[in-house]
Amino acid sequence: MIPAAFDYHRPTDMAGVLSLLSEHGDDARVMAGGHSLIPLMKLRMADVPHLIDLQDVEGLSGIDVGETIRIGAMVTQADIIDHTGLTASAPILREAALQIADPQVRYMGTVGGNVANGDPGNDMPGLMQCLDAQFTLVGPDGERTVPARDFYEAAYMTERGDEEVLTSVSFAAPKGGYAYEKQKRKIGDYATAASAVQMTKDGGTCTSASIAMTNLSDTPIFSENAGAALAGSTVDETAIKAAVAAALADIDPTEDNRGPVAFKMHVAGVILTRAITRAWSRA
Ligand SMILES: Cc1cc2nc3c(=O)[nH]c(=O)nc-3n(C[C@H](O)[C@H](O)[C@H](O)COP(=O)(O)OP(=O)(O)OC[C@H]3O[C@@H](n4cnc5c(N)ncnc54)[C@H](O)[C@@H]3O)c2cc1C
Repeated sequence: MIPAAFDYHRPTDMAGVLSLLSEHGDDARVMAGGHSLIPLMKLRMADVPHLIDLQDVEGLSGIDVGETIRIGAMVTQADIIDHTGLTASAPILREAALQIADPQVRYMGTVGGNVANGDPGNDMPGLMQCLDAQFTLVGPDGERTVPARDFYEAAYMTERGDEEVLTSVSFAAPKGGYAYEKQKRKIGDYATAASAVQMTKDGGTCTSASIAMTNLSDTPIFSENAGAALAGSTVDETAIKAAVAAALADIDPTEDNRGPVAFKMHVAGVILTRAITRAWSRA
């Protein structure tokens, strides 16, 4: 497994990155942690004549915690796990990051790489849809933000233009209870099914519920109908069943080495039920 020959670039600022992207067009790709891109290059499933390493680029790191939380694109999954302020304010991030791969991958894999990659198996896209995050992109025409819920078009196809770089993700500090549930075949594996849930309550009544799912379609799926089935209810068995049914109606899993469609629908139902129940218990 040796990649095809490539030129390695290590710019120190975004202007340098954008200039290389514009000069080499389709022949150039940015690399963050490299833990999705390098395996593809080694398998010769990605041909990247010009590899642009983002490690030294200024302004892509840092976690800001306030009413709005901002996470730089080069923040790693390990950084998220270790950040006590972030965990206090948005604990679902740590819970989800701890379920990604293994410590070695988490020391390298970045938030930006995870959400920009477009792999339906990545955990952070669904998480970001649950949190209603905004992705900030910078390109030749300047900066723009795209909601995570509008970013994913198909497997490995996103709203990001070829000459754009994702610089950060941001979202309002979440309120209420949370849960990230994931079923995988073994430690370090991608999800067979995963779900992110945030819920708020007033007295015994659910006031809002946000539900997104991972690896159950060719994009992450935010299910507005599942959330609506819980809002206004006491999250009893009937409401949970209605929410799960609504969520299952929104997904379109395909058969692969993680199982046939019927199995994935079953696992999705179990994972959703667990995530809703646990988020509600913490609300
Ligand atoms: C054994 C193993 C198990 C894994 N298990 C899981 C898992 O369970 N869940 C999970 O979510 N992930 C998993 N991963 C993937 C891992 O989390 C990756 O590191 C992550 O998906 C990509 O992040 P990265 O920083 O390594 O990106 P890279 O590999 O560097 O890049 C990935 C893609 O995103 C693009 N990109 C990267 N950064 C940016 C940016 N800032 N702007 C624009 N484009 C960008 C690159 O050009 C490339 O196309 C696993 C990886 C391995 C090797």
